[in-house]
Amino acid sequence: MLSDFDEKRRQLLTGSVGIATSLYATYGMAATEAGSATAVDEGEVAGGTVSFPAIDAPTELPGNSPPNPDVPGQRVGFAVVGLGRLALQNILPAFGQCKHARLTGLVSGDSEKMRVIASQYGIPREACYSYKEMARLRNNAAVQVVYVVLPNALHRDAVVQAAQAGKHVLCEKPMAVNVDEAREMIDACRVADRKLMIAYRCQYEVNNQELAKRARSGELGDIQLIDAINTQNQGDPTQWRQIKKLAGGGSLPDVGLYCLNTTRALLGEEPIEVIARIQSPEHDPRFKEVEATVSFVLRFPSGVLANCASSYSLHEKRNFRVLGSKASAEIANAFGYEGQKLYLSRRDGESEARIELNLGVKNQFSLEMDHMALCVRNNVEPRTPGEEGLQDQMLMAAIYQSAETGKPVSLPVVTRRDAFRGPPPDDGPVGGG
Ligand code: NDP
Repeated sequence: MLSDFDEKRRQLLTGSVGIATSLYATYGMAATEAGSATAVDEGEVAGGTVSFPAIDAPTELPGNSPPNPDVPGQRVGFAVVGLGRLALQNILPAFGQCKHARLTGLVSGDSEKMRVIASQYGIPREACYSYKEMARLRNNAAVQVVYVVLPNALHRDAVVQAAQAGKHVLCEKPMAVNVDEAREMIDACRVADRKLMIAYRCQYEVNNQELAKRARSGELGDIQLIDAINTQNQGDPTQWRQIKKLAGGGSLPDVGLYCLNTTRALLGEEPIEVIARIQSPEHDPRFKEVEATVSFVLRFPSGVLANCASSYSLHEKRNFRVLGSKASAEIANAFGYEGQKLYLSRRDGESEARIELNLGVKNQFSLEMDHMALCVRNNVEPRTPGEEGLQDQMLMAAIYQSAETGKPVSLPVVTRRDAFRGPPPDDGPVGGG
């Protein structure tokens, strides 16, 4: 029973914002337990959720629900390998918005940087490893997933080592620098009976998911053309992205891959032919080893043509357009870390309407890591497993072949829809119809 004091306090607090209100909101546990709680024990609240009744009119969008993360001890532990820009600027901060994943280990070649980062994120010294010490991860039960965020040519060895240490693996894109390495990575994880997921974050991003769902539902009519552009202007010519041995290629595997993978994921089909051209500015030290601009057209069994282009020498643009017989749709900044805008264009009576769909802001890195965490916990195949990465490696090899020979390259016919993907995440509309 609530005491008189508690009941009065509850009435005063209802509708206000702050941590105290959460004690009195709708629980998966009895209100009496909440009323008497001062410090909350992790075990006691396991499985509990908190929600608030709606306070706005039905004409308004409901506010966000509390995220209701798992208690820390139940979240799946991740060790991040390679503390570079992506890891420190995006991945580590994104753990703060994860519900099912948490950071429990670090691997780096720079012990001083690792010491600083470990102290910032509360990682104990014994959960910090050099690359040579990765086998010791086996003894750390708090790490269940190893997230590889190294330059592309170093993915293969790190993935193999992680699997051999008994860990599931999330690996950054591009999966590898060639098809053979991608196959080795899949085999190593299969032999070790560990899951392998490739970090195709756009497949977990809400605007990209929504567009895929609507396109597959037939809302746009008969889709015949896709236009995907991902460009950025590189600086420092000495960085690993400009060194073929470390990067595997230029703009294609780094940013063109988004055009390729997002198109495939939206359609659920695999291309049957590709034709490509490559152009790099002459005498530019950035392009001694890798290409600047790649333009390629994919032809799909349904007849869809996808015009894709990537560049390392053009001002940044990351747009994705889908053109159907009844309507068209576009995501501005489709492949960016944030700031996506989804537009639908169609006839509305006597007008042409352009609607912006506002899906709210969700951190795609958190969604992606939570998906991996749930796949591990529930023993489910990730939506973007190693096979999805291998298919892109094969297609990129065909794109390079076409650019080199100046001829179209025919590709194996794949009839099964979403042939290389696992099931869509439960809490997201990936794929749809
Ligand atoms: P950075 O160069 O910023 O970081 C790479 C890190 O890898 C380094 O800081 C270093 O970490 C480690 N490393 C180990 N050996 C080497 C080496 N020989 N040369 C350089 N670094 C080395 O790269 P990014 O973080 O931008 O990219 C890492 C991976 O993430 C790539 O595969 C890239 O394609 C992918 N990526 C994905 C993005 C996405 O949106 N999904 C966006 C950006 C990148 P340490 O000092 O700790 O050893």
